[in-house]
Amino acid sequence: MTAASNRYPTAEYRARDAAHHMHPFTDTGELNREGARVITSARGVWLTDSEGKQYLDGMAGLWCSQVGHGREEIVEAVEKQMRELDYYNTFFKTTHPPVVELADKLASIAPDNFNRVFFCSSGSEANDTVFRMVRTYWDLMGKPEKKAIIGRWNGYHGSTLAGTSLGGMTAMHGQGDLPVPGVHHVAQPYWFGEGAAMDPGEFGIWAARELERKIDELGEGAVAAFIAEPIQGAGGVIIPPDTYWPEIMRICRERDILLVADEVICGFGRLGRWFGSQYYGIEPDLMPIAKGVSSGYLPIGGVMVSDRVADAFIEKGGEFFHGYTYSGHPACCAAALANLEIMQREKLVERVADDIGPYLQKKWIALGDHPLVGEARMVGLVGALELVPDKGAPATRFAPVGEVGTLARDISFDNGLVMRAVRDSMIISPPLVLTHEEADELVERAEKTLDETYSALKKQGRIAA
Ligand SMILES: *Cc1c(COP(=O)(O)O)cnc(C)c1O
Repeated sequence: MTAASNRYPTAEYRARDAAHHMHPFTDTGELNREGARVITSARGVWLTDSEGKQYLDGMAGLWCSQVGHGREEIVEAVEKQMRELDYYNTFFKTTHPPVVELADKLASIAPDNFNRVFFCSSGSEANDTVFRMVRTYWDLMGKPEKKAIIGRWNGYHGSTLAGTSLGGMTAMHGQGDLPVPGVHHVAQPYWFGEGAAMDPGEFGIWAARELERKIDELGEGAVAAFIAEPIQGAGGVIIPPDTYWPEIMRICRERDILLVADEVICGFGRLGRWFGSQYYGIEPDLMPIAKGVSSGYLPIGGVMVSDRVADAFIEKGGEFFHGYTYSGHPACCAAALANLEIMQREKLVERVADDIGPYLQKKWIALGDHPLVGEARMVGLVGALELVPDKGAPATRFAPVGEVGTLARDISFDNGLVMRAVRDSMIISPPLVLTHEEADELVERAEKTLDETYSALKKQGRIAA
């Protein structure tokens, strides 16, 4: 791949981008002064920029490219679908073949009590659907006072009004005066960051019981649902202690509140099971999905609806006044179907559990020996490295938070590896098709990045020489 097919030189793209494009989650003024990186093509786990430089896509795009980039089979499935039926809606008692086939496929791979899916175009829309669905469920069940929804601090559920509200990102709440009323947040199970005074098991129980304390405070009869990611992604790949999820399940069952497992990242093989819930033995009532369901080839999301919730909507009757023009878009369904067929044929989920997952985990965890790394953690193919100024003093952190992470991220890009920085931790979530050689390459580049970041910090006098 060269930059030969580009229409404009890089500087021209940068200038036009700065003039006309406002990027998501971006300080536009700062970006416009620096100029954006221009990605022009991608194959497998490799990205190519407009200068011909190659990067290993350690983030699978944005946590979504399970089957890797450039799969002809998906391109052809979409092309064929667009020629046959480019678009038609699923309102007005109408359906079409790709949406039926995808719903059927999703029901077949989901846990036994999940037989239905409500489609939308993104993870954020999925959580907006969840928001209205859980409240409507309790209305249908004759308990309309059950309306409060509890999420977690530093959780991520998208960027729409409901997604931002359910999520626990305070910087996001500050813009748009959120959360909306009726949404509450409890502690996250982030042992390295917040729990080091206890042992991990004890801390997991403590964090789970924060939910119970919140339910007591609000009154059980007022709480509709609890929403959480099996492993928090955008919050920094926060892997809960093993004690956490069983205790959460106990609480949700005893208090009769719906459990929503946000599977937008953990779903579709990321943890070595089809759903992250299966990895932890979670039995949710609703599972929002997006990202890996189509490997990002086209935008599609949905809510997997358990029989418990679906039966209420079906048996109690009445219209659910909710849906999107693009709910079950034919081309997006065709892309997702082709993606899932590749995942099944190539046994990518099993591969994460038994082959590339353990292979990469071993090498990644070994990076924990680096003097800059306070903790290295990974489940399936999603992991983090916590960068710290003083390995000998586990509670110390860099200040201000985030500068060192950003420095390491920039160095990583220079080294041809995409890692994301969250605070001062480095995150990876590579495509599930990563080969052993590519895993070796990823770890080598990550280690080089740690070494170079470490020397830069020494030079700046920010860590002891
Ligand atoms: C990315 C993400 C979302 C939002 O998905 P979009 O497609 O960006 O709207 C929701 N939940 C989780 C857990 C996510 O990681």
